[in-house]
Amino acid sequence: MISVGIDIGSTATKAVVFDGRIIGKAMEITGWDPKEAGYRAFRGALDIAGITEDRVGPIVGTGYGRISLPILTGKVTEISCHARGAHHLHPGTRTVIDIGGQDCKVISLSDDGSVSDFIMNDKCAAGTGRFLQVMAGILDATLDELGALAAGGEPVPLSSMCTVFAESEVIGLLARGTGKENIAAGIIDTIARRIQGLAGRVPFLETVTFTGGTAQNPHICRIIAERLGTRLHVPLEPQFVGALGAALIGWED
Ligand code: ADP
Repeated sequence: MISVGIDIGSTATKAVVFDGRIIGKAMEITGWDPKEAGYRAFRGALDIAGITEDRVGPIVGTGYGRISLPILTGKVTEISCHARGAHHLHPGTRTVIDIGGQDCKVISLSDDGSVSDFIMNDKCAAGTGRFLQVMAGILDATLDELGALAAGGEPVPLSSMCTVFAESEVIGLLARGTGKENIAAGIIDTIARRIQGLAGRVPFLETVTFTGGTAQNPHICRIIAERLGTRLHVPLEPQFVGALGAALIGWED
């Protein structure tokens, strides 16, 4: 049996082909056409796996764009998919932190891996990848460079978590000659404080697994781990965890 999970996120669309193990995966920019991105990621992952569409059983979609893809045999929330994927990769997982392009969430799991509670910010860009992208743009840095800068800095406290206000604040700090390193450290600490605020509102037990595109940045992982006072388990490819969870849910049904 072969299943496919497709996670159509706000920024990136990910697909995973699963037959008991991951045999193919692909990622596409979501852009303005989530349906087309979903098809491209689906076909790309099948090509990598070396299989044709007629051999695929369940195709489970997740992410905000899942409503747009007619080929899906099932649709599941990102909460369930991140929980399922994280629990598969790190079986002791009791908490998942997911920071994607336009939302962030903290998910509590029971010891059997089922979701027991969650909290999510999808109303504004605070604490999300989008916040980081805007701030990196002001510092004229890539996301990787932002992390590397932060590693050598002392965080300047930013008073606002709101992307619009923080943008003005960072521009003001640069004008006053504050070092980019210290601003970068302050930017990432702002994300960490946002996550800390969410984490305090649901049961927060170890093992903690960090998923989503932002978890690819080791400096962000370190700063969040320090602020939360816990070790973070980061999968090898954290951006694919939601798509993997969707594929697993399809495979097990
Ligand atoms: P979504 O599912 O909402 O599209 P993803 O989990 O795919 O979100 O993550 C996309 C986000 O990951 C982007 O908004 C970007 O900010 C972030 N990201 C990607 N690579 C890096 C990196 N190296 N450092 C920090 N953030 C990153």
